[in-house]
Amino acid sequence: LLGDTIGDNFDRTVAAHPDREALVEVQTGRRWTYLQMREDVDVLALGLLESGVAKGERVGIWAPNMAEWTLLQYATAKIGAILVNINPSYRMHELEYVLEQAGISVLVSAREFKTSNYSGMIEQVRGNCSRLRSVVLIGTAEWDGLLEAGRRGDAARLAEAQAALSPDDPINIQYTSGTTGFPKGATLSHHNILNNGYFVGAICGYTPEDRVCIPVPFYHCFGMVMGNLACTSHGCTMVIPAPGFDPEATLEAVQRERCTSLYGVPTMFIAELNHRDFAAYDLSSLRTGIMAGSPCPVEVMKQVVSLMEMEQVTICYGMTETSPVSTQTRVDDSLELRVSTVGRVHPHLEIKLVDPVTGLTVPRGEAGEMCTRGYSVMLGYWNDAEKTGEVIDAARWMHTGDLAVMDDDGYVNITGRIKDMVIRGGENIYPREIEEFLYTHPDIVDAQVIGVPDVKYGEELCAWVKLRDGAEEVTAESLRAFATGKLARYKIPRYVLVVEDFPMTVTGKVRKVEMREKSVQALD
Ligand code: ATP
Ligand code: MG
Repeated sequence: LLGDTIGDNFDRTVAAHPDREALVEVQTGRRWTYLQMREDVDVLALGLLESGVAKGERVGIWAPNMAEWTLLQYATAKIGAILVNINPSYRMHELEYVLEQAGISVLVSAREFKTSNYSGMIEQVRGNCSRLRSVVLIGTAEWDGLLEAGRRGDAARLAEAQAALSPDDPINIQYTSGTTGFPKGATLSHHNILNNGYFVGAICGYTPEDRVCIPVPFYHCFGMVMGNLACTSHGCTMVIPAPGFDPEATLEAVQRERCTSLYGVPTMFIAELNHRDFAAYDLSSLRTGIMAGSPCPVEVMKQVVSLMEMEQVTICYGMTETSPVSTQTRVDDSLELRVSTVGRVHPHLEIKLVDPVTGLTVPRGEAGEMCTRGYSVMLGYWNDAEKTGEVIDAARWMHTGDLAVMDDDGYVNITGRIKDMVIRGGENIYPREIEEFLYTHPDIVDAQVIGVPDVKYGEELCAWVKLRDGAEEVTAESLRAFATGKLARYKIPRYVLVVEDFPMTVTGKVRKVEMREKSVQALD
């Protein structure tokens, strides 16, 4: 385990590889070497200090992926201010909630992005936020003023602030994706996230030669920990393809920047693989990468290996509350295990699977609730001891709410969230298994399965499917014909809805809660 703070670890990398490229923003062409990045980080850190930001104070960042996001991540870490990641797709009501809940005193934001007029929304809620002292919009006079103050500041002051930090200090509040309900603010320390980023990078075999394409949001741990912190702790280059996810910009960035690693949630990889010009891109520089965040379909993983040439792609499993990664496949695992499991436990962590009712560890091969213990477990939900107590028990085990199975060699399969399990006529059905099956249908490119209420069976299965361009229509009858003899009868979806899109979180996860509501309306 690294005993550094994030700032000290970053400085060590800068000292070791000052002239290596650290950060690239593909769409604007802006680039930083590690030395240049440190100059900008230090100016920003000193600017924050000069404007009165103290250790432990909350600094919010509400912006899509851009270089300033990353610079601010390291600047706040250097002075011990707690960075609060704010979801770029929030609207006023949610923004106001987070500003108050986290007690944010300085908010850094962009002026606007796509349909989000950030500055307009901030103006509207500002009066209601008692703690909010200043708002700094990137690229405006206020931002320049902050940098100017940093340039004039006394560098010794920054060194002093940095030296006063401890690796166990809280440094970051990250809200969960809000897939199952209202997002919760996980409070994380330097030690939590720096180490997790470091081990993710070590398992991917990162060296300073690696160039990592990060289309996943910085707002989420996938971007800022598995992306940025994995890169800076191994001296790699962070490549930002675009502010929001765009399959074309991502493919373009990999090709143009000769990226060796690519990240994504399954739906992002699906969008890239199915892009009409996919075959025209040269992706031969890719070696590794990470698929994570939701169940990773075997068929999609196989295509990533063969068509994107990511022979050493890995799958990670984890959650915001555990910094995030708990298990990962290793680049030398057999291909079969690498595409079909979430791998084995990460270094220095413990996992166990328990019966959610009795709390006892289940026998090998049986499904139980995944629990994680070790350095990566969050300090707690911000200002919410009650919710923290519901998920972290007295022995410090984090109860994830996910069901999993472990084989004799320690490889884990996630069978789904406890909340998403469908009980039809007394039979437990894991939507994941049905989704995996639907991916083998020649006309279906993406599929999600949920339970809908049913008078006779309690619940019935409903599949939402996206079809390949020019595909034949898929109906409940045609699917039944396709599945008969391959799936047990009770596992064949009763309802099929052909859709263009699924309701998604900004982190690229399917909101099954919303799917259930919409299905009930559609089937009425
Ligand atoms: P919320 O807690 O707000 O409902 P969330 O759980 O989606 O949202 P995150 O912390 O971003 O918020 O996601 C963690 C969850 O994502 C895990 O609990 C698990 O259900 C799912 N997950 C992550 N990685 C994988 C994976 N490789 N396979 C299956 N599920 C995964
Ligand atoms: Mg969760």
